[in-house]
Formats: sequence, C-alpha cells, structure tokens
Amino acid sequence: MTWLSFDDWVADARAVNLVEIAGRLGAAGLKRSGRELVGPCPACGGVDRFSIREDRQIWNCGHQGGAGGDAVALVGHVRGLDPRNARDFVLICEEINGAPPPDRRAEETDAERSEREARNAERAREAETRSAAREAEASSYRDAEIRRALAIWEEGYRLDGTPAAAYLAARGIVHVAGLRLRFVERVGYFVKPELAKGFVKIGDHPAMVGAIADGEGRFRGIHITHLDPERPAKASIVHPETGEIQPAKKVRGSLHGGVLRLAGPVAPRHLVSGEGIETTLAVREALIASGRDIAEIGFWAGISLGNMGGAATETVAHPLGATRTDKAGRERVVRLSGPVPDRTKPGIVIPDSVTDALILGDGDSDPATTEFATRRCAARWARPGRTVRRAWARDGADFNDMIRDPSA
Ligand SMILES: [Zn+2]
Repeated sequence: MTWLSFDDWVADARAVNLVEIAGRLGAAGLKRSGRELVGPCPACGGVDRFSIREDRQIWNCGHQGGAGGDAVALVGHVRGLDPRNARDFVLICEEINGAPPPDRRAEETDAERSEREARNAERAREAETRSAAREAEASSYRDAEIRRALAIWEEGYRLDGTPAAAYLAARGIVHVAGLRLRFVERVGYFVKPELAKGFVKIGDHPAMVGAIADGEGRFRGIHITHLDPERPAKASIVHPETGEIQPAKKVRGSLHGGVLRLAGPVAPRHLVSGEGIETTLAVREALIASGRDIAEIGFWAGISLGNMGGAATETVAHPLGATRTDKAGRERVVRLSGPVPDRTKPGIVIPDSVTDALILGDGDSDPATTEFATRRCAARWARPGRTVRRAWARDGADFNDMIRDPSA
C-alpha cells in the first residue's frame, strides 16, 4: 500500500482492527465474555487481565495500575514505546502499517531500508516466539484445569440414593440408574475477587457432576451443579464482596464443543439434545413413562446455548428490539449471535450413527437467543439421510409424540 500523506498513514494505523493487531502482537487464548474478549495480555501475560471491547475498539490491561486505549496504545504497551513521544509514535505506526511514513520512503537509502527490513523481520520473529509462549502457557493452564476436573470426577460415586438423586427427584427425574452423572460430597466454589487477580474459594458444597466429552469422546472437563446441603435444591451462593447471587452451575476444564453424554449408547441412533441436564432428562423421563424403548436414544446436554450453536458468522440486532443500558447509561439494542454457523469454527460433533436428532430449546432462555443458537446447531448437524428437528422444551411430555413418530 502507498500513502499520499503522513496524515493518511497515521489514520490507517489508527484504523487497524484491534483484535487483528492484538493477534499480530502475540495475544492468544482470548475468550469471549459478554461483550469482551478476555485473556492473557500480549505484553504482560496473566490469565484474564487483558480485555478488548471489539465494538468500541478499545482494550484494557489490569497489570500494575492498568493501561488501555486504542491500537496505537496497544502496540506501545507491548513494545514498551510511548505514543506521546513523536519518535515512538512513528515507530508504532510503522509497525502497524508495515511501512515507513510516505515522506520517509523517498529519502531512504539502501542501507536504511535494509536496516528497517531487518528490524521488522526481527519484530515478527519476536512476536511469533511470544505468541507460541502464550499459547503454551494457555494450553498448560487448560491441561492443569482438565486434570483438576478429572480428579473431582474420579472422587464421585453413582447417583442412586445420594443427595444428587434427591435433587433430580425433586425435579421429576427418578430414573437415575445408568446416568453418566456422579455425586461428589464436597466441591469447592471459586469466585474472582473484586480487586485481586486469580480466584478465591468461598465454600464447599455437595454437587452433582457430569463429565464433558469432546467429539472423540475424550474427557475435557466437568459440569458442576452445586447443591444445598440441607434440601434437594441448588445451592444459594452469594459473592462475599459484591453480594451478588452466583450461578450454582459451573464448568471446569474446557467446554468448547464438548457435551455431557447423560445416557444412552456411545453411538446412538436417535439423539435428544438440550441445553440443560434437567431439560434433557425430563424428555427421557417422559419417554420412559410412555413405555418407549430408549435403548437406542442418546441424551446429551450441550450446557450452554452458545456451545450448542457454536460460533456464528455475524451478530444481529435482537429481532424484538430488546435493549440494555450500557455503562454510560445509554439504551442500546442487544446484539445476538446470528442464525448462520461459522463453519470455520468447530461446534458439537455428533456420531455418524445418528439418523435423527431432536434439539431442545429451553423455555427459560431468551427466545431469540434460543432460536438462533438451535438453528446454528441444526445447520451443523444436518446431512443427507439425517432428520434434525428443533423444539421448545417447556414440558418433557410434549416431546413424547414427536419422538415416537419423527414424521409428525
Ligand atoms: Zn498488559
């Protein structure tokens, strides 16, 4: 690319996409969390201190008093350059644009050019090394989490007669024999402190635990339902600093594209897949109650709508115009992951043996979010010779007829 003026050159540097430049600078392992991408800082590492707001093209790093800003500031943060210093500023823009400012190119001698090219090559090598190191760090953190999750899973015992079975019974699920769920007497509950980094344990609870398996059936983590020790219900957990109610259900390890294979054969002919454990098992209960042979039906829980649908090609405005109030107090239309799956990103993989799949949308989630996520899921699973249908799960009994007669 050639630039007509220094100002154009600077404008292009400032307009670079922040996620792209963060990647070039070695950011790896960034995960979506609400409206942010969160992960290790490409300059100072860590686990979750670095975040990017893609919609606003700003970033923030919580390390040592904090830093943040636009793409120029990010390059400065990573390279140790100060954008307020004119010389540093030019170096930053040069790195982003991959070329010196237009007025310099003409005057550049051969020696200067080869020096500049060597410097750029050196920077690219550094970025590559840093990126590989970050990826290794993220992956060893993930592996350690998976090992910790496996240790919890291995502590568990079969549900029959346990508080986990009592919890399910209170939800109308009584056929627990053979379910791939376990009861664990004490599972730690961890929260992120307000100011410090990392996680702190705020208690232990009895728990119902399910194993997350990937498409090849490998153990990837656990889904934990923390239970109330006194009664058959989910635990009530409050953040000690903020007083906010915490979710009783948690995932440890890696959920990405994984599922809880709750019941049925490894290679089932029919598949019933819902977001939650209870929804999916409610359908199983209804089928058992109706006398249906469930030997060839797999019952899989996808844990979250986002996981079930996988990545979308684009976000879309909420079809019903739902709004939320942002930090600045402005009313904004909520944006959702759209209905079309991004097939360059993996989703949940189901076995070739499945000839018909029923995807359950939980009735208690936002209908539009559920609609789009289940559409992405159905599109991913569709193939010649396989029927994929979607349904809303308010009452397990509703699915009875559908499963009995797939053409209905
Ligand atoms: Zn940083």
